[in-house]
Amino acid sequence: MRKLMLLIVIICTSCSGTRKASKIKPHIADKPVSIPLAHYGAGSSIITYTGSGGFLIQQDSSAILIDPYFSNINPLPLILFKKLKTDTILIDDFFEKNFGSSKDVSGLIKAILIAHSHYDHLADVPSIYLRNCNIDSTEIIGGPTTNHILKNSEIDKDITLIRPVNELNSENIQPKAYQWIYTRNNQIRILPIPTEHAPHFCGIKLLSSKKLTKDLSFFPTKVGRFPEGENYNFIIDILGDNEKIKLRIFSHAGAACDDDIGIPNDSILTEKKIDVLFLCVANFNQVDNYPEKVIQRLKPKFIIGNHWENFFRQYRKNTRKPATVPNTNVKRFIKNVKQQLESLNLKDSTMFILPIPNTAIEIAY
Ligand SMILES: [Zn+2]
Repeated sequence: MRKLMLLIVIICTSCSGTRKASKIKPHIADKPVSIPLAHYGAGSSIITYTGSGGFLIQQDSSAILIDPYFSNINPLPLILFKKLKTDTILIDDFFEKNFGSSKDVSGLIKAILIAHSHYDHLADVPSIYLRNCNIDSTEIIGGPTTNHILKNSEIDKDITLIRPVNELNSENIQPKAYQWIYTRNNQIRILPIPTEHAPHFCGIKLLSSKKLTKDLSFFPTKVGRFPEGENYNFIIDILGDNEKIKLRIFSHAGAACDDDIGIPNDSILTEKKIDVLFLCVANFNQVDNYPEKVIQRLKPKFIIGNHWENFFRQYRKNTRKPATVPNTNVKRFIKNVKQQLESLNLKDSTMFILPIPNTAIEIAY
């Protein structure tokens, strides 16, 4: 039944996938930008939007990948029937551009974070980890379902498992229940926060929302075989001497969700406010008060929208002339962000952009 529904929706929405992004042009970043968050001259980080839910964050001798996915499966009406195939040429090019080689030989990438287990977050991970990363330096950080799926890829190393949601997702969550994960060189720390995933269409989730409790018997090769599993947002702290936080990023890049679910509690925000917010655009219209409530709670200095381009289209086409993601009114999303920033008096201080995949943003602090 879910598959039939998915097929009908896919056929109905596939036309909108060709919509070009010209109407939202003023907010699109199509070349490298530099954003000064402060004028201390203390340093800078480079954030590269990799497309869909993905980012690369680079800081001195450390880097982190979030949900790297490049192998867009297209065209939309056929995605249920086609076999997923990792675009290794595209990925090698990306690594060449950002690391000077198709392989991260010197082990800069310390972690790959997985927000949930859908194909557009996980399908490319085994190939990227094994072919492009330095497996002695890179750890994969994800939830139990991600772990159960990756167990049947060729990765024979345990992933760093995020603690089960039921330990963290209680009503009266205490700061001590949170668990920071430090990269091995202690230059970056990550705090996963349980969250939820927006429905895809008319309040219905078209892909499986199952959480796995045992290993799959195979690594999936079809879109519909990647269950959603657990969902996480991430605080990512770039650390200086004595664990001083130089830059705080909050990744809400996995999926939109109602209100302010998945937002860090006040004690964490009192310690350090959010500098940069990654905000998922796709399906924002399927949930309530998003992204307004998130912006209100976090009051970030800079917002980067993601999952806004049509990832049912070839990656290279989106880097040349992007189209917006089907079934989401990106123009309306921008309007909602701008209205909320205005009502919070942040219109002039908080910048908002939608980068084209493969665009680098330098954050100076
Ligand atoms: Zn998803």
